[in-house]
Amino acid sequence: MKENLANLKKIVRELYLLEHAQAVLSWDQETKMPEAANEERSEQLALMEGILHQKLTSPEIGRLLSALGADEDRPEGKGDFSIEDKAFVREVFRSYKRAVKLPESLVTELARQTGFAHSSWIKAKNNSDFSIFEKNLEKIIELNREKAEKIGYKEHPYDALLDEYEPWMTTCRVEEVFVPLGKKLSKLTKEIVKAKQVDTSFLEQAYPVDIQDSFGRTVVSSLGYPFNRGRLDLTEHPFTTTLGSDDVRITTRYEEDLVLSGLFSNIHECGHALYELGMGDAVRGNILSTGVSLGVHESQSRFWENMIGRSFQFWEYFLPAFKKAFPEQTQGVDVDTFYRAVNKVTPSFIRTEADEVTYSLHVILRFEIEKAMLSGDIKVSSLPDEWNKRMKSLLGIVPKNDAEGVLQDVHWSAGLIGYFPTYALGNLYAAQFMSAMKKSLPQMDEIVSKGDFGTILSWLREHIHQYGMVYPAGELCLRATGEDLNPDYFTSYLDKKYSNIYGLRRA
Ligand code: ZN
Repeated sequence: MKENLANLKKIVRELYLLEHAQAVLSWDQETKMPEAANEERSEQLALMEGILHQKLTSPEIGRLLSALGADEDRPEGKGDFSIEDKAFVREVFRSYKRAVKLPESLVTELARQTGFAHSSWIKAKNNSDFSIFEKNLEKIIELNREKAEKIGYKEHPYDALLDEYEPWMTTCRVEEVFVPLGKKLSKLTKEIVKAKQVDTSFLEQAYPVDIQDSFGRTVVSSLGYPFNRGRLDLTEHPFTTTLGSDDVRITTRYEEDLVLSGLFSNIHECGHALYELGMGDAVRGNILSTGVSLGVHESQSRFWENMIGRSFQFWEYFLPAFKKAFPEQTQGVDVDTFYRAVNKVTPSFIRTEADEVTYSLHVILRFEIEKAMLSGDIKVSSLPDEWNKRMKSLLGIVPKNDAEGVLQDVHWSAGLIGYFPTYALGNLYAAQFMSAMKKSLPQMDEIVSKGDFGTILSWLREHIHQYGMVYPAGELCLRATGEDLNPDYFTSYLDKKYSNIYGLRRA
């Protein structure tokens, strides 16, 4: 048993190193690579992908897994191992099973079709014409249906797809959470729309990009982002990528007239990076040393971005420095005005620009549509109508065209079905983690207003980060908070915060 485990670890360590080498190539492609190098770089990346797939599906891994007694009923195997080693076997089994169940022809076909779909999506979006993308999307849905069948599921084909991004979560459970959540958020949004609106005029000015950058770097450093274990660079779309145990890089984007957008992107990506950099010694350097699910990952970015970064106390601490950086733009602005402005709520069409209250409604809409497309309950051709109908009922607004409606996200063209729910699950986990944190740190408001972010990071490290993938998301949540995922923490957090900001009447 011991020897089989050691051999499995050796092979999987190589997979881990190769994945990070691949991440270096991708990071460079997005940030530094000269434009002309793109074609060969794509070939290099495709080759790496192939090598990784071959290595992961090698008969040797299959042989070692069965020697360790891992199967569908006991993915962690039969060895008398530590919790970490059992989790290691379980996670290798999971990845291996998913990879071998998908025939190479299907993987190649999906890659080919997403190539076509991506360019037709760009064309459709630029012309705001869904019909240009329709046939490609139909093909992608069909291939995803096939993928779900090959992987297998108990209740809904969507389960098989969701499982890739949010392991052990089911469609049924997501539905159970999303239906009441949608109702509560719609109701709160409608109340806010009718209330007196907040003043954001001081934000609608030019904020020089170089000063935004130095302020942004100061903020992420204060939150605990170590620049000797990472970098901050500029890209079209902000992201975080792990290149090694001590190399987690973030990117951002600044615009002169959108000062908050860049700053909150910095904080968001910093939250993802702190998770990846917070792995404990027991998981360091192997496949367990990463976020356990995309939902939990997103909980870390959203926690820092919204629950800390958009709190009153955060701006009690940072406003003096912000005003010093931008004295003319912020003349006469006090903490209260600033706090209200960074928490402005407006129903809008674009998910990525949505505020804390309406954001999850955009996600719920996409989840409903994906599920219905997959089961054939709605036809791809009727998507623009279905989209607009749901926007009207959830957010009370109807997009003027497909570009600001059904065509806005890149995910479907990239073949990603089952990914969206993780964004909203992140909000829910974040609020539940914060509530537990406040129980063990009752003086949390004071901690934030003093800028003592190390105390907060330590709590996250102790209860979440250090474990990596050792505990499945549900179990991690239970251990950290004493409860299963409970959406009430999020809705009551929002209700308390926004009824105060917007002066909504509460019994
Ligand atoms: Zn994120």
